[in-house]
Amino acid sequence: MKKVILMLVGLVVAGQMATGAEARVVALATSGDVDGELVARVAEYVRTHAQVTLRPTDPVAAEAGEDLNVIGRRAAGALKEDELGVLVLGQFGEDQPQGICLPPERFGILNLSRHAAGEVEMDRLARRAGQDSLRVMALLVGMSPCPFPLCVLAGFEKTEDLDRMSGNYCPPCQDRFARLAREAGLELTPTAPADEAGAGELPAVE
Ligand SMILES: [Zn+2]
Repeated sequence: MKKVILMLVGLVVAGQMATGAEARVVALATSGDVDGELVARVAEYVRTHAQVTLRPTDPVAAEAGEDLNVIGRRAAGALKEDELGVLVLGQFGEDQPQGICLPPERFGILNLSRHAAGEVEMDRLARRAGQDSLRVMALLVGMSPCPFPLCVLAGFEKTEDLDRMSGNYCPPCQDRFARLAREAGLELTPTAPADEAGAGELPAVE
């Protein structure tokens, strides 16, 4: 009897060690003044559609007009050991790009000033930034743009194009993302049915 108990304890310890060694997260950093509600909405969007829980990290310093590449690299320079990459959210002005993602350097940086183009309301703003965040997540695990038009990874030209695009990965990209994310050590959190109902999806018609 004693032997069995010891074996069980050994298994539990080994299991915890394996999880601790492999589990990685994506960090979420803000830069400058960013609406806290918007940041929370973007994190929720990513959790709902990519099953990735972003972990808040220290804000990133940025000077006015500073190149997004430089700010992104600064954020990546502060990555912790268990962080696969970092998503940076900031309002960098409408004369800066909408976003930049450099997977080898492990950062994606989004310019919310561009997502806000057209003085949109919070729902639309959160969806646009959430869509671009899904694109960053996919790029960070090594995916490419998708040729399927009904996919959030499809190419687009203007910010407003996002409003007509899918808010989610197409099924093959969803599968690929889940596989690559797990291979990269990310822990995916399946969405509870109650959360899905509140995610803005149309309910099934019976
Ligand atoms: Zn796709």
